[in-house]
Amino acid sequence: MQKVRAPKGTKDILGEEIRIWHFLEETVRETARCFSYQEIRTPVFEHTELFQRSVGEATDIVQKEMYTFLDKSGRSLTLRPEGTAAVVRAYVEHGFHVKKPRVKWYYLGPMFRYERPQAGRMRQFHQFGFEAIGFAGPGADLEIILIAWFICQRLGLPQLSLEINSLGCPECKGKYLDELIKFLQEHSQELCVTCRERAQRNPLRVLDCKNEGCQRVFSNPDFPVIQNFLCEKCAEHQRRVEEGLRKLQVPFQVNPRLVRGLDYYTRTAFEVKSGELGAQNAVMGGGRYDGLADFLGVKGVAGVGFAAGMERLVLLLSDKKSVFEEKGPLVYLAPLSPSAESQCLRLALKLADLHVPFYLGEAERSLRAQLKEAQNAGIRFVVLLGEDEEQRGIFSLKDLDRGIQEGYSEEELLSFLERERRKCCVHTPVES
Ligand SMILES: [Zn+2]
Ligand SMILES: [Zn+2]
Repeated sequence: MQKVRAPKGTKDILGEEIRIWHFLEETVRETARCFSYQEIRTPVFEHTELFQRSVGEATDIVQKEMYTFLDKSGRSLTLRPEGTAAVVRAYVEHGFHVKKPRVKWYYLGPMFRYERPQAGRMRQFHQFGFEAIGFAGPGADLEIILIAWFICQRLGLPQLSLEINSLGCPECKGKYLDELIKFLQEHSQELCVTCRERAQRNPLRVLDCKNEGCQRVFSNPDFPVIQNFLCEKCAEHQRRVEEGLRKLQVPFQVNPRLVRGLDYYTRTAFEVKSGELGAQNAVMGGGRYDGLADFLGVKGVAGVGFAAGMERLVLLLSDKKSVFEEKGPLVYLAPLSPSAESQCLRLALKLADLHVPFYLGEAERSLRAQLKEAQNAGIRFVVLLGEDEEQRGIFSLKDLDRGIQEGYSEEELLSFLERERRKCCVHTPVES
């Protein structure tokens, strides 16, 4: 029979790699705790309409990349391709705009896009994101940028750089788009096929194009840049974000061509990049989305946030595996007879109570085999429980590092192992 494999663009995450994921997730959660962002978990699928309305009909995501299907009742559902739309949907659905307009939330989980898989890009991929909803001032933009910057630093990503831009409000963005479309039409002969098509339905996306001909069009001195179209309020907002970054000594560059792929961005847009010049990758990106809630029927909800693809971060982190050494079990429990097995399990429950990690052996295997297994797994202590120990009501504890073996009462054994756990475990749990 032919083997069933994981679908194209998905993968199992296991073994060594899972440590990197734990390290990344822990860094995100710890940062969220410090900045007082609470976790929100939204469903993995939503009504298709949500993404059509918010992400935008004209985007690549909605046009080509969504996993959309009819359920058995004929509803059109879509596996979430990104996180922000659902977070704002939840905000509106639970009436936060009325009862508690300011929330700071973060999310972390799988997203789905039908894309051509390549290194760091999967069809089921993972993102985390931070969202400050109900905050209109530039202080929130700064906080969000700082969180992204802080996480990158915590992760030890090399050569970080920050690019920012403003996309204006609907008013100034509209004026800019008119000029941009006009300019692109005048130069449509010099644009690549994709851009000629994009110029019609999603002109901002043209700015992402890497094609040489298109790049020449962009470097034309008359090429319109959004900065020249910002209204008074949008310009002031951007000025304050820049001023804040300077005071915080976060180095940044204004990139007028940074537009982000989604329709809902307004004002601040930013990307944090990592890697040597020329081979830089955006690792986190986000911006302000005042008006995203408009698409969901509630007017005037401000919001700013960012998201990061976790596969790419894991790839960047995989060079320094040693950082993610997780401590294995501290003790191997070796039952040497069937009756000893339940005794070992009883002991196991008490160890679990004390947060001591252990590995439970099998009575069917010889003492030799169990000792060897403990050694191979790098477990220092082995508790031996055979007929002799059972009769005497003790446990034998073998220290494989020092090659000694001693008898302990249960109480002594538990307190000894707990002390050892405190000495050597990296992940000491919070004591209640
Ligand atoms: Zn404006
Ligand atoms: Zn192009």
